[in-house]
Amino acid sequence: MSSTPTDARLMDGSGLARRLVEETAARAADLTRRTGTPPCLATVLVGEDPASVTYVRMKRARCEKAGIRSRHVELPATTTTAELVATLEGLSNDPGVHGILLQHPVGPGIDERAAFEAIAPEKDVDGVTFSSFATMSFGLPGFVSCTPGGIMRLLDAYGVDPAGKRAVVVGRSAILGKPAGMMLLARNATVTYCHSHTADLSAAVREADVLVAAVGRPRFIKGEDIKPGAVVVDAGYNPGNVGDVDFDTAVTRAGLITPVPGGVGPMTIAVLLAQTVDAAERQLA
Ligand code: NAP
Repeated sequence: MSSTPTDARLMDGSGLARRLVEETAARAADLTRRTGTPPCLATVLVGEDPASVTYVRMKRARCEKAGIRSRHVELPATTTTAELVATLEGLSNDPGVHGILLQHPVGPGIDERAAFEAIAPEKDVDGVTFSSFATMSFGLPGFVSCTPGGIMRLLDAYGVDPAGKRAVVVGRSAILGKPAGMMLLARNATVTYCHSHTADLSAAVREADVLVAAVGRPRFIKGEDIKPGAVVVDAGYNPGNVGDVDFDTAVTRAGLITPVPGGVGPMTIAVLLAQTVDAAERQLA
């Protein structure tokens, strides 16, 4: 089925991310002028996974463009949990570093949770610690997971108030699905999580006023299951620039929908940069 001009409105994540980065760059410049210290993000990469190498390089390049310094730490794949924890504790205690990003996944043999918990909450600009998850879930000030944070900003930018709506999140990963659902709950949506054990996933999806797809399976959500007029947020990013929602069929039923690419994707780094400047502002105040 092909799309027509009367289809859903697109939620332009690229444009929103660009505006957020511009605003963040202006804040970074102002902070640097006032304090003489530019915001600094430490990026930590363990091993040489090509996708992780690319992601970290992209994040550092965006930092530089926004006037945020980055300090890069590369560790071999043979790094132990204790060594990684010591590195992260060192960065947590370093006053020259305002935010810390540990690139996920860290690879087998390392206790990733122990590593995340070695990041000081006030520097957890990627929103990966238990502390950040708790504040995010309670809707309290703190750092949020960047992709779900980007999703909430997109909803706000398009005037979607989750309160009272049925939100269905397909996927429950620690960095995406689970925090996305908790943030929607904190904003008073009625939230259903779906995952690989969900019976009759289609029935759950059909209830969604707001649908967040975070599955990692190309075109997994079919248009026929989209409630007419629903807000469809596709966080999926699969090979070939394909989302987790079958866009061509979903666009004919949704009210608002994120494209892939150009929807949720660009928001992630923009939120990371914004949170890094937030952290620096608090630490340099
Ligand atoms: P993940 O860790 O692999 O989690 C996938 C989730 O989907 C799991 O909760 C899993 O359920 C569920 N799932 C898998 N197969 C299912 C099925 N057949 N039916 C129902 N649920 C199923 O993936 P992720 O890291 O959350 O990423 C999800 C997608 O988002 C990927 O396409 C990824 O590339 C994309 N992503 C995008 C960004 C961005 O910046 N835009 C950032 C992160 C991720 P179980 O828990 O039961 O296993």
